[in-house]
Amino acid sequence: MSYIFTVNEVREKQNITVEQLRILLGNASEEELNFLYGQAREVADKVYGKKVFKRGLIEFTNYCKNDCYYCGIRRSNNCVERYRLEKEIILECCKRGYELGYRTFVLQGGEDGYFTDERICDIVSSVREKFPDSAITLSIGEKSKESYQKYFDAGANRYLLRHETANEEHYGRLHPTELSLVNRKQCLWDLKEIGYQVGCGFMVGSSYQTIETLYEDLMFIKALEPHMVGIGPFIPQQDTPFAKEKAGTLEMTLRLLAMIRLIHPHVLLPATTALGTIHKQGRELGILAGANVVMPNLSPVDVRDKYKLYDNKACSGDEAAEGDANLQLRIKNIGYELVCDRGDYC
Ligand code: SAH
Repeated sequence: MSYIFTVNEVREKQNITVEQLRILLGNASEEELNFLYGQAREVADKVYGKKVFKRGLIEFTNYCKNDCYYCGIRRSNNCVERYRLEKEIILECCKRGYELGYRTFVLQGGEDGYFTDERICDIVSSVREKFPDSAITLSIGEKSKESYQKYFDAGANRYLLRHETANEEHYGRLHPTELSLVNRKQCLWDLKEIGYQVGCGFMVGSSYQTIETLYEDLMFIKALEPHMVGIGPFIPQQDTPFAKEKAGTLEMTLRLLAMIRLIHPHVLLPATTALGTIHKQGRELGILAGANVVMPNLSPVDVRDKYKLYDNKACSGDEAAEGDANLQLRIKNIGYELVCDRGDYC
């Protein structure tokens, strides 16, 4: 089966078989890859036009009770200088972001017991009150349905919780036994039921990932129908058990971004920081492969290098909100417009 024929068929059916995935991840000429990316872009443009949405990322705590083998802020990593941001600081970050045109704030952190439901609701409702026209996205891990409901009632609209891998065995090789895929998936269903716009996702090139596990990831996306999907290359962090593992590649990430766009056309799809970290033009290339969201960093400058999920994480220059003008220019240069808009799913 030819590469181009397969791309057309996946686009038309908005679905993919494992054989087709094998073809699309297999040997391909530059021309074939450009065809894949071009089709994905066309699909994205049809839904969202030539717009790229921006989200301001506030990494408000790097304390975490979990011990995921790949993650730099895992609880066993003693080399991390831990920090947490109090509400007033978070509100200042939002204010700065608002002035720069951000209308979505993403509050992300480790699973930090200090931030009880009461504290999270207090933060969310303060942001809601001060920035009524902005979307609030939470990304703080696995909680009970009751907790998710409380945050929603306090004013949160969206929730990012990457499923990490949809395959049980693979999940078990990336996480300690106290963490379960069943629970993580259930969280996503709960969030959806409550009424959040939800985002799942996975790392590209994580250890033990295979075509079959990736296929399960794509099928999970088809089943869940999330509003957002966050994928980026796995990048080793030197103080984790996965320090010596291989990183995911730019090309593999671009191919998967394109496929996700083809099988789930309306998805909000970020060109992630990890993608920007492994390649200088990762963000642009991601957009040219079907992504339509960027998430510059709005955290206070002095904590940015402490939220080290992986080595060499890009957090300054164009990855930071201060670099907005430049990012805007870079996006304009590839024919897109970085807009000040909540950028809801449509
Ligand atoms: N505690 C929150 C946020 C986790 S950090 C939660 O559980 O959702 C956000 C994402 O960073 C993770 O979901 C994971 O996919 C990604 N990540 C963690 N370590 C990484 C690494 N070494 N390389 C690339 N991405 C990583």
